[in-house]
Amino acid sequence: MAKNNRGKTLKNLPAHGRGQCPHCNRTGVKLMYEIKGENKTIKVCKVCKNTPADKLTA
Ligand SMILES: [Zn+2]
Repeated sequence: MAKNNRGKTLKNLPAHGRGQCPHCNRTGVKLMYEIKGENKTIKVCKVCKNTPADKLTA
């Protein structure tokens, strides 16, 4: 698998892909994983990447 979340890819993202995870509320984490909900896509950190979309409240 390619390293999609490292290096130049991160530099092209706003704030280098860092922010506050809407699920665990940690700040300064890389929001690299998208969880597809019913009508929106939520970006979460790697800790929360396996959380089912219906468990995400944000
Ligand atoms: Zn998180």
